Amino acid sequence: MKQPPILTAEERRLALEKAAASRRSRALVKNQIKQGTISIQEVVELSRQDSAIAKMRVSELLESIPGVGKIRAVALMERLGISQPRRIQGLGMRQLQNLLQEFTASSPIRGRGKLIVLSGPGGVGKSTVASRLREVSDFWVSVSTTTRAPRMNEKEGEDYFFLSENEFDLKIQRDEFLEWANFAGAKYGTPRQGVENALKMGRNVLLEIEVDGAAQVKAHSPEAILVFLQPPSWEHLVSRLEGRGSDSPERRSQRLELAQNEMAAAKNFDLVLINDEVENVVERLVSLATH
Ligand code: ADP
Ligand code: 5GP
Repeated sequence: MKQPPILTAEERRLALEKAAASRRSRALVKNQIKQGTISIQEVVELSRQDSAIAKMRVSELLESIPGVGKIRAVALMERLGISQPRRIQGLGMRQLQNLLQEFTASSPIRGRGKLIVLSGPGGVGKSTVASRLREVSDFWVSVSTTTRAPRMNEKEGEDYFFLSENEFDLKIQRDEFLEWANFAGAKYGTPRQGVENALKMGRNVLLEIEVDGAAQVKAHSPEAILVFLQPPSWEHLVSRLEGRGSDSPERRSQRLELAQNEMAAAKNFDLVLINDEVENVVERLVSLATH
């Protein structure tokens, strides 16, 4: 190995600072990819001006894309003839073209995943079903954006991306939502890019959203399967909302009133499932996606 250069204390400090800044800008871009707010094309363009991004490994880039994990990234790189340690700056013209083609809207659709939308009255068990589905299947469950305050135990990026009204409105203006709606005094929206990427990668996608949002999805993606989750009875719904215990009494009564209206929307859905047992619902959703 070549002898390392002899640096003064000041030069060492500057070198460390530069390395830390590079790591920060790579982490920022990876986070933006995860949230679907920057496209692969834009990252490649950025890499032409920013050497920290140019030095990012292609595998790191791919693993940050919603719907692509380590295993899929390895398979994709093999298919595109890109060696595992390759950095963005080392990609040949053809490799770059193939990579971009893979993630553009015009790319040939190779075994596109199914889009399933799960709606139903608040408290019926939608998020319980969604998180179980995430655990036991290969479904990609979209993480929504909301302006409501986090509940106890909710984590940024896992349960929701929590945004201010202004930040949310900016995303509406930029057309970054597949759908969005007002619900119980807050805004909720599905980031478009993540869903698109996951479907393109052949993943089945679940959106757990309220009924207006579900109607918007169906309007522009008629192939989406709309599933309405119903409680076994109204009493079950009341007791589940009570049991969750994460809302104030006023908020709970507001939610019950909303739930009455939401129940009436079931007729607009492709399928109604009764949430008697979480496992049964999860099984039905998996079989919907695979048949
Ligand atoms: P939603 O996301 O539809 O508002 P949650 O998933 O938060 O509803 O569920 C509300 C409450 O009901 C939670 O306490 C949850 O544990 C409970 N729950 C969900 N599904 C069932 C079920 N099949 N049987 C009994 N309790 C359930
Ligand atoms: P909560 O505040 O209980 O987490 O969610 C309230 C309602 O908003 C639920 O019915 C939930 O399904 C819905 N919701 C969550 N994310 C989205 C979203 O991205 N879009 C829409 N339209 N509704 C959402």
